Order: sequence, then structure tokens, then C-alpha cells
Amino acid sequence: MEKIVPSEVDVWSFGDEWGPEKVIQTYDPKTRSRGILVIDNTARGPGKGGIRMLPDVTPYEVFRLARTMTWKCAIADLPFGGAKSGIKADPKIVDKIEVVRAFAKLINPYVPSQYIAAPDMNTAQAEMAAFCDEIGDLNAATGKPASLNGIPHELGTTGYGVVVSTIAALKTLGKNISGMTVAIQGFGNVGSYAAKFFEENGAKIVGISDIDGTIYNPNGLNINFLTDVFAKTHKVTTCPDAKVMPTDAILALDADILVPAARGGVINLNNAASIKASLISEGANLPASPEAEKILQKRLGKWVIPDFVCNAGGVVGSYVEYIGKPAKDAFNVIDEKLSKNTERIFELAQGTGLSTREAALRLAQQRISEAMEYRGWKARSTIGSGRID
Ligand code: NAD
Repeated sequence: MEKIVPSEVDVWSFGDEWGPEKVIQTYDPKTRSRGILVIDNTARGPGKGGIRMLPDVTPYEVFRLARTMTWKCAIADLPFGGAKSGIKADPKIVDKIEVVRAFAKLINPYVPSQYIAAPDMNTAQAEMAAFCDEIGDLNAATGKPASLNGIPHELGTTGYGVVVSTIAALKTLGKNISGMTVAIQGFGNVGSYAAKFFEENGAKIVGISDIDGTIYNPNGLNINFLTDVFAKTHKVTTCPDAKVMPTDAILALDADILVPAARGGVINLNNAASIKASLISEGANLPASPEAEKILQKRLGKWVIPDFVCNAGGVVGSYVEYIGKPAKDAFNVIDEKLSKNTERIFELAQGTGLSTREAALRLAQQRISEAMEYRGWKARSTIGSGRID
């Protein structure tokens, strides 16, 4: 029997002053797939968030990701709220398109007025096209194929944003990206594009890992070459000219910058102290536990670019798609928004002693609070006072 941890499944316990506004559970008898849609907060606009398909996805995981989207959209100053979907199905076994269509049919009343979908783990442009087709509205999702006027995540907008944000953070610390050494955990959509754009900006990628292992070369990996090898083998460890190490070795590599770009929860109390990098750019969602992040910043004196600031390139690209602009505009808007937001948060943290996450949260919550007050969702007392943005 599967062990059920009550706090992980008790959706009533998720609620606080920000949301979630709605938690919708679905079941499709034909595909036998279960789903969950968490619409966290729509004060600033329809909830935006990806559809994650995993056999072990949990309601709590989806809620935490929806909340991250609430902060991410507010900090990027987009007219969206936060939401997230999870489909509990094994992508290796099911027909993904059929399962996504079934899920779309079940959540149809909420889309796109309260929820706009996007790709996440195991869903991509083809699933977004099917989702929109089932809803009957091309505004039901972003990350659609280019032939449907979409800006697919496969263009690397999130990885690009990670690099823009890192460059901006370094600037506030009086440093330059050129010649900096970088270790990247994960070589999927986020990690592979981050590697490419870091290299293009003069950084040296010394280590990369995937689920099968870590590769390390202190003289720098050639990312074009690695990409070609990876396209054939789907394993970074098959790349020649690099030392192969265990998967988790990536975290403790000798590098100036560490980019976790794989799964959540990989940095914890057991390994935080082993991290050598002085800047951690969180490409993945929630890659560090709150306690580990506190230790990194307060005890070890490292700088962290919080996930919802650092990996916002994808959702900014989604916004550009939503307003009907082409892909090239997405990269310009990401440049502008992510560098401005990262600089502002780092300067606020430097000026106040807040952690970067606390500084970012303060700014995001201020914007959401104000929208909630104007809508009459909370006591209208402090609109416009004490603003920091
Ligand atoms: P992906 O599935 O394309 O790639 C994940 C990579 O991580 C793969 O290379 C996999 O081998 C590797 N991996 C998995 N477990 C690992 C482990 N224990 N150690 C080392 N490597 C491991 O996923 P993605 O789209 O690149 O997303 C990565 C992270 O970034 C996720 O947390 C996701 O939520 C977050 N994110 C993605 C986007 C996006 O646009 N794709 C946007 C915002 C945030």
C-alpha cells in the first residue's frame, strides 16, 4: 500500500492569505489518469502555470509550484496570477496527447479565464497544441508550436533568462561573467540552454550532470561538441575529454557559479555546506530546501538568485506569446525584465540585510497585496504606502 502523508494530501491545509483560490481534482475513466489543477491567486490576472506529468506527482507539489508561479509572475510584473497542473500518469506508458486532452476536457470551465497552461516536465509544444484544440481556444496555453503562432519552450527562453539574471546579479556584486567557471546540474531544456548562453557570454562551463552522472573538465567543456554527442547518446557521461564522476558530485565542484537545473529539493541540510560556488543561480523550481538556502546565505555568505526570479525567462516568453508577439521579441523582453528585477532584488538585499528570497518576496507580495486590495479581497488600508518598487 502507498503510504499517505496527511499534510501532503490535505488540500485544506494549503490555504493562507494568498490562496489557493481553487483546487480541482480530476479523473478520466477512459485513460485512468488522475489530475489536479491548483489556481493559487488570480488578483493580477488568470493563473499561469505548466502541466507536469509524472507518475508520482502530489497535490502538495503542485500547490507549491502554483505558489511559486504566483510570486514569479508578480516579480516579473506580468498580468498573470499563479497556478499549476499535475497529471498523475507515467509518460513512458500512456498516450500523452490522449491524457492531456482528457485533462483539458475536465478543467475546461476554468480555461483560459482563470487558468492558462504551459509546458512542464514531460509536456511540450505538441501537448500544448492538443490542450488548446480540446479547449477550442489558442489562448488556453502558451509554449505552442511556431506554426500555431507559439513560442515553444524548446527555443531555450528559460535557460537564456538564467544567464541574463546571473549576469545582472554579478553586476551588483561588482563582478563580470567573462572567465567565470560554471557547474550545471541537469542538461535538459533549462540546463542545456543555460550552458550554451553562458558559453556565448564568455563563461567557462567546467561541469555538467544528468541523471546518469557528472562530467568535469577544469579547462572547460565544449558545449557545441557536448550537444552533438548528447543528441546521439542522451547521456552527458558519454562525452570524451572529461572526467566522469557520480551524479551528485556536481554540487561540490570547484566553480564560481552553480546552476541547479534538474529537480526540486536537491540542495538540503546534508549537502549545503559542501557547495563551493559563491553564487547559486536557481534554474530549477525549489532546488533548495528553505533551511539549506538559509544556511547558504546567512552562514556561508553565498549569494542565491531565487528560483522565481532566476527561471522566469520561460513565463516572460509565454507572456510575449500571449500578446501575439514573435519569438525574437521574447528574448528582448527577457533581457529587460530579468536584468532589472534581479538588480533591484540584489540591491534591496544588499541595502537591508534581507536574504535575496526575502527581498524578492517582499516586492512580489506588495504587488499582489495591492491588486487584492483594489479588488476588495482584503482590507483596503495601505494601498500605495511604503512601496519599494
Ligand atoms: P528536463 O526534463 O528537460 O531536464 C531535466 C534534466 O535533469 C535532465 O537532464 C535529467 O537527466 C536531469 N536530472 C534529473 N534528475 C537529476 C539528478 N538527480 N541529478 C542530476 N540531473 C538530474 O527539465 P527542464 O525543463 O530542463 O526543467 C528543469 C527544472 O527547471 C525543473 O525543476 C523545472 O520545474 C524547472 N523549470 C523549467 C522551465 C522550462 O521552461 N523548462 C521553466 C521554469 C522552471
